[in-house]
Amino acid sequence: MARRKKIYEGKAKILYEGPEPGTIVQYFKDDATAFNAEKRDVIDGKGVLNNRLSEFFMVGLNSIGVPTHFLKRLNMREQLVRQCEIIPLEVIVRNFAAGTMAKRLGIEEGTPLPRPIVEYCYKDDKLGDPLVTEEHIAAFGWASQQDMDDILSLALRVNDFMSGLMYGVGIKLVDFKIEIGRVFDGDYQRLIVADEISPDSCRLWDIETGRKLDKDVFRRDLGDLADAYTEVAKRLGVMPQNATPMEKPKLIN
Ligand code: C5P
Repeated sequence: MARRKKIYEGKAKILYEGPEPGTIVQYFKDDATAFNAEKRDVIDGKGVLNNRLSEFFMVGLNSIGVPTHFLKRLNMREQLVRQCEIIPLEVIVRNFAAGTMAKRLGIEEGTPLPRPIVEYCYKDDKLGDPLVTEEHIAAFGWASQQDMDDILSLALRVNDFMSGLMYGVGIKLVDFKIEIGRVFDGDYQRLIVADEISPDSCRLWDIETGRKLDKDVFRRDLGDLADAYTEVAKRLGVMPQNATPMEKPKLIN
């Protein structure tokens, strides 16, 4: 079998050159990392779950007119996505205080915020993805003012969609992170939602019990991560209700 060209390997995903120009194959690994990779483990089945869940969210977003990079799922661990130029920002949307914001501002985790708060971090592992302001973003040319308007609008639309979807299955969307890519259609550039949307990049709490169903289970040693992600997938109908966490798939490459 012909070897594919690896473009990039990150903490949770590998990107390969796609079959056609302008496409990329995104492979979801089972690796889990936290605290800028100081804590790491391999969680059997995580890649399969995130591939499915990210597909589910991105297809939903595409269908309500929020553009994403997602083209199609290829198999259990891979999806075909549109190649784009990633803007070097992590765009974080928060509905309830948690994580670094709760710590930074001394607010109790779970406190509802008066309105969704959008934060930007500069994507740089060596620096630990520091929080930046729009002043930094403009001054260093990471995105234009028009880009920032579009990014804010995309982030809030994703928040409304994801919050509603999760509320429908008894889950509170506490916060999440997205990444944004630039694509060119002729002379025009457009911004689209890229990377992934999964329990790796969201905080998801059961509305009734407060049980955490996201990567905090791994970060804070709260139990079995694959069980938590499987619960999210089952509630959303992405996996059959009676499915059990799968064994490590033997499929690909
Ligand atoms: O750690 P913090 O509280 O700032 O994270 C806010 C949200 O962004 C969480 O849902 C977290 O999972 C996500 N995040 C992420 N990747 C990062 C940093 C944060 O997915 N590098």
